Amino acid sequence: MLWLLVTTGKCNLICDYCGGSFPKDVVPWKTTYNINKLKKLIENDSNPTVIFYGGEPLNNPKFIMDFIDNVRAKRIGIQTNGTLIRILPLKYWKKINVALLSIDGREEITDKHRGKKIYRVVTENSKLLKSLGIETIARMTVTEDSDIYEEVMHLINLGLYDKIHWQLNVIWTEKWNVERWARENYIPGIKKLVDYFVEKIWEGKIIKIIPILGVISAHYFEGYKGSPCGAGYKSVTVTSDGRVLSCPIAVREKWAELGSVDGFKLMEDPLPEICKNCEYNRYCGGRCLYASKEKYWGEEGFNIVDNITKEYLKIVLSIIPEIDNAIRKGSIKLSDLKYDPTLDSTEVIP
Ligand code: SF4
Ligand code: SF4
Repeated sequence: MLWLLVTTGKCNLICDYCGGSFPKDVVPWKTTYNINKLKKLIENDSNPTVIFYGGEPLNNPKFIMDFIDNVRAKRIGIQTNGTLIRILPLKYWKKINVALLSIDGREEITDKHRGKKIYRVVTENSKLLKSLGIETIARMTVTEDSDIYEEVMHLINLGLYDKIHWQLNVIWTEKWNVERWARENYIPGIKKLVDYFVEKIWEGKIIKIIPILGVISAHYFEGYKGSPCGAGYKSVTVTSDGRVLSCPIAVREKWAELGSVDGFKLMEDPLPEICKNCEYNRYCGGRCLYASKEKYWGEEGFNIVDNITKEYLKIVLSIIPEIDNAIRKGSIKLSDLKYDPTLDSTEVIP
């Protein structure tokens, strides 16, 4: 199971789509529960992946060090804005398997939303983590300023990231004309990325673009029974005050509370009702649980995003016959297409 551990509600940046730190009374800036309770829960899990989360998790390096010194986990990772890497001693970085670094693509796009010089700092730090043998994942937020094809290809060509993932800045942000942007940029860009993915498959390489790979994996292997991030059924979040939530964003929402470090219960049926008869549900799992519960853009906004999701899924799934062919001809192995997002804390569906 995936455990997202919120080390602090504090962040040192104020990216415009996020707004920075959580208030201390909602998500404390230091952990306030007994780490031994967490140790017991995690060590009872036969296959735990632990990802440090925030705020910016490196604002509380002490918790990360205590955890690594005292608790056994199969896989350890961190979701970080990539600016405070040097705060954690090298000895601890050597115990970390995967780092997800926030970067939106080209320098001007990243700096516009995350702050001046952030791109340079994050790419320098990504280089450092890669040199330590840590798997690196670029975690992009995609907005109306993004050219999806250009941003993704830029990150692939940097050669600093083993995998690329993105999320659309929709529903939890101010409303914008995502429909028009999708028509003019996103959907045509997805087509080009999918063509690139296929071209590389014929060269025997699988380019790990998670929104493509995660859908293809669900076709050949197990589908998603709820949000691909695992929210509430294969993944839980432990907040700094010791609550256990289905989703790390839902820090104020009662529906997300599954219990606490004293005990909790997973969701049994995580697929939203409206998704029950959808032909894409095995690939999509209802997309983001938080978005489908909160619907900040109303029913209409939800449907606009849903139509974009379906359009993107159609494009990705259209290459299945070609992939079948590439497997038959020995260009790639079927097993190389298997992807489990709960090992990386990614969401698959943007
Ligand atoms: S495409 Fe839409 S309706 Fe279908 S499973 Fe995903 S979120 Fe649900
Ligand atoms: S995809 Fe949605 S449900 Fe899953 S972790 Fe992110 S915000 Fe929460």
